[in-house]
Amino acid sequence: MEKTFVGYRCSLCGKEYGPEDVQYTCPADGGNLDVVLDYEGIRKKYQVEDITTRTDASLWRYLPLLPVTDPGGEGTPLRAAGWTPLYQPPALAKTLGMRQLWVKDEGRNPTASFKDRASSVVVARARQIGAEVVVTASTGNAGAALAGMSAAVGQRAVIFAPRTAPPAKVAQLLVYGAQVILVDGNYDSAFDLTIEAANAYGWYCRNTGYNPFTAEGKKTAAFEIWENVILPLGDSTQPLNVFVSVGDGNIISGIHKGFKDLMALGWLKVMPRIFGIQSDKSAAVANAFFAGTETIVPVAATTLADSISVDLPRDGVRAVRAATQTGGAYITVPDEEIISAIADLGKVGIFAEPAGSTAYAGLKKALKEGVIGADEPTLVLNTGNGMKDIRAAMAAVKEAPIIEPTFAALEKHLAANR
Ligand SMILES: *Cc1c(COP(=O)(O)O)cnc(C)c1O
Ligand SMILES: [Zn+2]
Repeated sequence: MEKTFVGYRCSLCGKEYGPEDVQYTCPADGGNLDVVLDYEGIRKKYQVEDITTRTDASLWRYLPLLPVTDPGGEGTPLRAAGWTPLYQPPALAKTLGMRQLWVKDEGRNPTASFKDRASSVVVARARQIGAEVVVTASTGNAGAALAGMSAAVGQRAVIFAPRTAPPAKVAQLLVYGAQVILVDGNYDSAFDLTIEAANAYGWYCRNTGYNPFTAEGKKTAAFEIWENVILPLGDSTQPLNVFVSVGDGNIISGIHKGFKDLMALGWLKVMPRIFGIQSDKSAAVANAFFAGTETIVPVAATTLADSISVDLPRDGVRAVRAATQTGGAYITVPDEEIISAIADLGKVGIFAEPAGSTAYAGLKKALKEGVIGADEPTLVLNTGNGMKDIRAAMAAVKEAPIIEPTFAALEKHLAANR
């Protein structure tokens, strides 16, 4: 195989490194590294049709645009990550007064969140470099994804999560057979401990906003949006709006990277506008955007949307740029609107966890405040499945009534609730 992966470029100082020179962040300043591909070489070898006619119904259809070799694992969940359902719920569009609205349901990934995109590509990388153990810190989903993708191909995984992680996510980690260590602290403390452990034991570290390959996995969502929404729209000069929730900022930077790759290849003509949505109780990236700076000031995050509850976003700079460089914006929403967005999506058959419904809550606010127009083509990502956090789901709805198992009791209940 010829080399598509030619190295890294630091997102802060711009210094370039060869594929073997570094592993995680820029040694000079700790900046996040962008993976650099041989765009010229890819363009010589492939046309758009060569990609769009590939038969893998997974993110592996984009292998020619990924910095990893084929990880194998055919017939396992590793090969099933990505290629998630794309909906155009008419009732939702009507409620919002929109003409062209898509919802991409990342909760339908093998371990039920967007994180499978990153973890499958990191596991591919781990196999390529012969790593014995892969480790990650996680609020739950990244760990579940790494545990699941690792289990699929018999890779050893160690997961550090805060002890407050929702029980469904902890159950997933355990069932997938990872070594699970719950930390009596928050995500940020688990993050630092993971890096210490990885350095001490020689484990390969997947940490979000630290390992450059996570964004490479996440960029495949942009490829799917391009293939299934942007290309069919035809030669429109109208950019697509993309709404995505933001915690560490790695999903939004990954999606931005995917669109930038396609631009570099000449396969995408109009850059979509990327909108990052945060809870106002965990808004470090949005704060920087509003202040017109790339300097990220940590917050004390308290949002109930655990997957985006982050004090210090680890991919904050690139996350700010995803909005500033695409004509997008940041929007913050209160937790009550995140919860009611769960109910809105549920009513059209889409079950989201709080961090997943956050993007939809942001879309509602963006329309109300005129940040975007109702006539603009817009896509919202649901990044995680509602099964992940049943307590939050129950907060979005009224409890079901309990009645005696008699017809009389039923009639009485129905009469009282007409
Ligand atoms: C991780 C996650 C996010 C946020 O992704 P970041 O890269 O941390 O910004 C959003 N939603 C869900 C469900 C997640 O698991
Ligand atoms: Zn640097």
